[in-house]
Amino acid sequence: MSWGPLQPARIDFSERHAPAAPDFGDVYPAGAAALERAQQVYLAGNQLPERWAGRSRFVILETGFGLGHNFLATRAAWQQDARRCDRLWYLAIEKHPPHREDLIRAHAGSPLPVLAAELVAKWPPLTPDLHVIDFDGGRVRLLLALGDIADVLPELVARVDAFYLDGFAPDRNPAMWDPWRLRQLPRLAAPGATLAIWRVDSAVRQGLSAAGFELDKVPGTGGQREITVGRFAPRFAAAAPAGRLGWAGNTAAPVRRVAVVGAGLAGAAVAQALAARGLAVRVFDRQGGPARETSGNPGGLFHGIAHAHDGPHARWLRAAALHTARVLRPLVASGTVSGAVGGLLRGEQRLAPAAMQALLQALALPPDYLQVLADSGLADGRAAWFYPGGGWASPADLCGHWLRSPGIEACYGADVQALQHGDAGWQLHDATGSCLHSADAVVLCNASDAQRLLAPLPTGAPWPLRRVRGQTTLLPAELPGLPELPQPLADTGYALRLADGRLLCGATSQPGDEGGELRLVDHQHNLATLRRLTGWTGAVDAGRLAGRVGWRLQSDDRLPLLGPVPDGRVAPGRRRIDQPRWVPRHAGLFVFTALGSRGITQAALGAEALASWITGDPLPLPASLLDALDVARFTSHAVRRGPSSVE
Ligand SMILES: Cc1cc2nc3c(=O)[nH]c(=O)nc-3n(C[C@H](O)[C@H](O)[C@H](O)COP(=O)(O)OP(=O)(O)OC[C@H]3O[C@@H](n4cnc5c(N)ncnc54)[C@H](O)[C@@H]3O)c2cc1C
Repeated sequence: MSWGPLQPARIDFSERHAPAAPDFGDVYPAGAAALERAQQVYLAGNQLPERWAGRSRFVILETGFGLGHNFLATRAAWQQDARRCDRLWYLAIEKHPPHREDLIRAHAGSPLPVLAAELVAKWPPLTPDLHVIDFDGGRVRLLLALGDIADVLPELVARVDAFYLDGFAPDRNPAMWDPWRLRQLPRLAAPGATLAIWRVDSAVRQGLSAAGFELDKVPGTGGQREITVGRFAPRFAAAAPAGRLGWAGNTAAPVRRVAVVGAGLAGAAVAQALAARGLAVRVFDRQGGPARETSGNPGGLFHGIAHAHDGPHARWLRAAALHTARVLRPLVASGTVSGAVGGLLRGEQRLAPAAMQALLQALALPPDYLQVLADSGLADGRAAWFYPGGGWASPADLCGHWLRSPGIEACYGADVQALQHGDAGWQLHDATGSCLHSADAVVLCNASDAQRLLAPLPTGAPWPLRRVRGQTTLLPAELPGLPELPQPLADTGYALRLADGRLLCGATSQPGDEGGELRLVDHQHNLATLRRLTGWTGAVDAGRLAGRVGWRLQSDDRLPLLGPVPDGRVAPGRRRIDQPRWVPRHAGLFVFTALGSRGITQAALGAEALASWITGDPLPLPASLLDALDVARFTSHAVRRGPSSVE
């Protein structure tokens, strides 16, 4: 479900030391006092930093991010602690996030100026999504969920070690402390989880007790008589959904070695995300190097989308595009990846500018995510959407960068022809039957070939996928009169300038066509797109142009396939598998494929989601989006239609 539209905070700074929230008749904690309070209430109340010492992962959930003081104090404590956990996950919910300018004002003169400046610099466009923001080389990860706690809390997928129950006072903001809402906490609490609250009343205390927390009052600081701390001590533990256990939850053995099949965008992104979590990853590709098949285009676009219903497709592509921009910005700036994150214009096909504006306002999407340009400069005079965080990138550069991460070994010219599961995990075999590798788990990122490898296994309902041929066209840089194209242009096709000056335009879309040859008629189609978008009138011998043919793998619902592979041996009807999260899976067997025509946009966030799923880290996607992307969705759909449609 959508969490939008989002209403940013209204903050009154007339009292410099106590910024006020007029909508709640309350003040924000500010400055040194706010950091001190974070230390004494939330860190000390959760026995931090002691409890995270020596752990590989520690997860905090804060309700009410406010101006971010609790996060800054926690990050500072983590940085200063020699025995800190390897990776700190900080989940935070905020219904009314501050605008960037207000965040700057709130932290002017901060006792933690470097950390505050970094938070401001990484502050995301205020869209109703789960934003993944990395600090300290990714070892501290902020998952910022912008939306109402009533919508967000049921959507989080995480095992939380410490709760910071913050927010305006219960009498000023009763919706936040609703007892029913507090009953969501046990689902998220890890064994031994603790909590700390600054302001509490008897109703909140009762709600938390009913949720399974043993509470204590301890002396408070800063004028507060006492604060409440708690420890999760439930009378019974509910079973987690089978499909959400990933690998860590399916086996008692420690997770160490993973094999990834495919070194395109999907495989490279997954390998990087797993290696960053400390796993030993070996990548296999049948080609002589990375990104030699569909991911081999010299450039491709990335950007979000806007749709009136803000359904799973729109929400996923928005979150994925915002994440990709965050990942690419430093890589493009350092010259590691050829590309640009300087905006993208997409010509509107259907709506007039007034209707586009109305859509933008209804969704309350901010201008740093999306703007309407009535006077777009497109050659045919159409209005356009402008995505400031969109752009283009070289898929091969990105794959190469990801695959150079420590902990990854890449094996090329290695054609995986069969998978076998045994006591030692998964074995990968080549065409001669020789074992290429054994691993605890395997992730199939080999596009349409994943289905062939899985054919001998029961995997539930068939996956409705198709291959769609596409041809691109490359125009030489020296061709006279070619448009400059400071930003990529798109509608049903696209045009962009590569870093070496060549102009790339495309692409055709031919479902079911397996022809690998370059075609004159397809070049002509792409040149027509270029003329439509830019007004270019130059002449060129289309028969002599370079280009490339590839195949997008597309699902019927245009969403990728992600997650543990369903185990079709479990008879439908015996379990509650009408929802993907309850569908049983093959232990240690995962897939990420069907990135369609949006591989650059979708690879990074999809890979993060899969890596979290595998290792038991907090998921960077809401549960409803995970269900929408889950490869088990086809089994669930089939169950809803009737048992005969499940294999
Ligand atoms: C014409 C065209 C234009 C496009 N434009 C854009 C664009 O502008 N923006 C965008 O985001 N996306 C674009 N795309 C889509 C994008 O290229 C894909 O979404 C993306 O490349 C898919 O990545 P992948 O890793 O899933 O697949 P692939 O790149 O195909 O990677 C799969 C890898 O698996 C390997 N493999 C397969 N089987 C085996 C096996 N049995 N053993 C070992 N290795 C194996 C292959 O060698 C290959 O390297 C375009 C696609 C086309 C065709």
